Amino acid sequence: MSDLYDCIVIGAGPAGLSASLFLARYLHKTLTFHHNSPRNEYAHGVHGFLGHHGIPPAELLARGRDEVTKHGGLIIEACVTAVEAVSPEHFRVFVSEEKVFESKRLLLATGLRDLTPDCPGFREFYGTSVHHCPDCDGYEVKDKRVAVLSHDDNSVGFAANLLTWTRDLIFLSDGREILKSDRAKLDKHEIAIRTEAVVALEGDTQTGKLERAIFSEGEPLECDALFFSLGTELATDFHKTLGCRLDPECGLLWVDETHQTSVKGVYAAGDVTPRSQLAVVAAAEGAMAAIHIHRSLIPEHRRL
Ligand SMILES: Cc1cc2nc3c(=O)[nH]c(=O)nc-3n(C[C@H](O)[C@H](O)[C@H](O)COP(=O)(O)OP(=O)(O)OC[C@H]3O[C@@H](n4cnc5c(N)ncnc54)[C@H](O)[C@@H]3O)c2cc1C
Repeated sequence: MSDLYDCIVIGAGPAGLSASLFLARYLHKTLTFHHNSPRNEYAHGVHGFLGHHGIPPAELLARGRDEVTKHGGLIIEACVTAVEAVSPEHFRVFVSEEKVFESKRLLLATGLRDLTPDCPGFREFYGTSVHHCPDCDGYEVKDKRVAVLSHDDNSVGFAANLLTWTRDLIFLSDGREILKSDRAKLDKHEIAIRTEAVVALEGDTQTGKLERAIFSEGEPLECDALFFSLGTELATDFHKTLGCRLDPECGLLWVDETHQTSVKGVYAAGDVTPRSQLAVVAAAEGAMAAIHIHRSLIPEHRRL
């Protein structure tokens, strides 16, 4: 077992890299996998990451990878296809049937996949003027003309959240019927409503600036930004193979205060756990997970 790693980290977004950096600084033999698909790959800049506000996501991660490898951590770009818990002290990670890596601890930092509208034009503006996260991009739409694309009964609360930054809001029900109670809430906050189906988004595709939404009928709507919230799903189902419990309320990986999942030796950090889904939070969780993984790896004879 000469190639037994102390910890294998699956995922090199802010959570995985932050954990890998700390683990490497604790001098643990650490291997990190990623397949270069961080959640915010469509964003033009990471907002609200203290000291790095606005940094392009790819640059933040490239810097992080550099810091990890400079401390002796190994990073491999490869898609992990399966994982196996042999015992609470022994895990196997497969990148193909022939390539198997082994470790004493496993950290899942595989992030989430966003469900996005399939409206023509969406991709051209996503991350620049079409957003899903008011915490990340609300400030950028301060006093602007903002449309909110509805998808379910939570959309009214989601729209009201944006009143923090602008009063110029319009709720697009996208052909869905609006409940009487929801209409009353929108009226109370003076949020305008359009009910026709949204068939396209248009604007300056060079700069990514949205200019209007096109409807199945009626006049186009001139707007500066659009928010949507269709939900997310876990990027991998490794938790199923490992038997990790999900949080019943949000369907994400349940972890205790040490970031250990319900399976001994398997830890989780970042968007896969039930906290705010922000890069800075993911990085902090990665660091916390690493601290506890380190503590769990200290041999018995060194514990005072
Ligand atoms: C459009 C957009 C804009 C955003 N803007 C902001 C913002 O301005 N500010 C902010 O704080 N947050 C922002 N976020 C949220 C932020 O991106 C996430 O909170 C953060 O990326 C979570 O980090 P993470 O490490 O948990 O997961 P991720 O960044 O999603 O990283 C997951 C990692 O797992 C790897 N992975 C997954 N499956 C496998 C596999 N099978 N094998 C190998 N590797 C695998 C991926 O390659 C990746 O390295 C934004 C998100 C989106 C979608």
